[in-house]
Amino acid sequence: MSIMFIFYDNFKDNIDYAFTGKLPIEPSFYIYSPTQIDQSMAINNGEIINVVVRVPNLLFKGIEWDNHTIETMRDRIIKTLKNIKGLEDIEDNIEFVDYLTPIDLKEDYNSYAGAAFGLSPTLTQTNYFRPHLKLDTINNLYFVGASVHPGPGVSIVLLSSKLVVQEILKSEK
Ligand SMILES: Cc1cc2nc3c(=O)[nH]c(=O)nc-3n(C[C@H](O)[C@H](O)[C@H](O)COP(=O)(O)OP(=O)(O)OC[C@H]3O[C@@H](n4cnc5c(N)ncnc54)[C@H](O)[C@@H]3O)c2cc1C
Repeated sequence: MSIMFIFYDNFKDNIDYAFTGKLPIEPSFYIYSPTQIDQSMAINNGEIINVVVRVPNLLFKGIEWDNHTIETMRDRIIKTLKNIKGLEDIEDNIEFVDYLTPIDLKEDYNSYAGAAFGLSPTLTQTNYFRPHLKLDTINNLYFVGASVHPGPGVSIVLLSSKLVVQEILKSEK
């Protein structure tokens, strides 16, 4: 297992909760275990498991990202992980745990409202409808990255930087 998605029965609720400001009770999530392909990332043959859960951003004021919330989410995730074949005893084997909440994303990475994935991919914010690379109203102001055209994901962001370079070169002619 390197990457795995765990979909709970109430997957639709899980998706909707992020837009209604609620935390999932039975969270669906994404698991990534980098040590499956690169053992040098952990000492003594250890294993790293990264779990990503979809939660509301900080525009929703109802959630206090304190220890109680973190522990509650941790317990819900561990409960689900224990149901996966091979991970039944995971709780007894945890050596180190770290968490990244929307507060951390906001404070450490200056991410707007602590949103991990930038601008939502709604219809009017997708592809051409995302903010453009070049601002029409201010000369020589360019944007690059996940929240602008063409969109998110490392390969697309790299493409976006290439497009910006092309725009700049064009404007210099
Ligand atoms: C959990 C997760 C898993 C993902 N998995 C994948 C994947 O498997 N494959 C994939 O292709 N994409 C994945 N993505 C998406 C991908 O990481 C992003 O689309 C991409 O990193 C966006 O690149 P960016 O340069 O726009 O922004 P970022 O990578 O967020 O870089 C922006 C940088 O600017 C810094 N910054 C912010 N404000 C300032 C400031 N005022 N001054 C100076 N620096 C500042 C930030 O700290 C940050 O380092 C994932 C994203 C997340 C959150």
